[in-house]
Amino acid sequence: MMQWSKRRQSSWIQLAGHQGNIQLGEGGEVLKRFSEVEDSCLQALMSDPLRRFVPQYYGHISRNGEHYIRLEDLLSGLKQPVIMDCKMGIRTYQEEEIVKARTKASLRTDMYQKMVKVDPTAPTEEEHEQKGVTKLRYMQWRDSTSSTAALGFRVEGIMTENGIVLKDFNKTQTKAQVTETLLFFTKKQVHILKAYQSRLEALKETLKKSAFFNSHEVIGGSLLFVHDHTSKANIWMIDFGKTIPTPENICLKHDVPWVEGNHEDGYLIGLDSLISLLSEAIKE
Ligand code: ATP
Ligand code: MG
Ligand code: MG
Repeated sequence: MMQWSKRRQSSWIQLAGHQGNIQLGEGGEVLKRFSEVEDSCLQALMSDPLRRFVPQYYGHISRNGEHYIRLEDLLSGLKQPVIMDCKMGIRTYQEEEIVKARTKASLRTDMYQKMVKVDPTAPTEEEHEQKGVTKLRYMQWRDSTSSTAALGFRVEGIMTENGIVLKDFNKTQTKAQVTETLLFFTKKQVHILKAYQSRLEALKETLKKSAFFNSHEVIGGSLLFVHDHTSKANIWMIDFGKTIPTPENICLKHDVPWVEGNHEDGYLIGLDSLISLLSEAIKE
């Protein structure tokens, strides 16, 4: 299932996203390429109960003509950290992207190639002929072949304590496969699994009280799991680049299925799945 992909020298690692979007800054800071959407989320989060689940936000900086958001480095202080990025929610595209894709459906050969690499039978005959798929088609396919659509989250990547990076979780879909991944990630250490579980329970309680969560559609956001051999273990909410305020007439439940127009993100479905799969892993 998993393939060795890369071994790192440095213990700082960007597990998801375009490489170079995020870099290590000075003085325990991480710099992420500026986005208005993410910036306003982080500002709002700094005065929300969720603040203790989010990296500290320090404003912006320009470097070599690029603008960046300054964030707390969540890996600082950890010795040979073990990291997992879980992308949350039952879909990873915004409703707006569907509308755009309908009006302007440009074909992507890069995404077609990624699709064929994972499953040569996935593209339709027409897509094979065009050697291209739309971005939306690609994202919908990824959501349905991974655990996103069924469990409300998927593993995007893992880095082991040796600096080995695994990103081959496109087909990790069933509860049993995800539990196996959690056991691999934690090396079956019960105290780490329990620490993660209680952090997620605390997150769930805090989400109920959060004005931010109550008023935002959280798409493409991740939970970053980090632990090390000194038994420090923590989980953080990251990546608010596609998290947008919900329209005024809509109040999201976050725990019901999505149909186009209801804006539901299924964030709490993913959180509950994670909590229950950690329980399964603890029993193993
Ligand atoms: P994508 O939208 O494709 O998921 P992105 O460009 O929006 O990617 P993020 O998801 O925010 O980027 O971050 C990518 C990776 O960078 C994370 O998986 C994590 O490994 C690392 N990272 C992000 N923020 C931090 C942080 N504050 N401290 C330490 N590592 C971080
Ligand atoms: Mg991300
Ligand atoms: Mg992102």
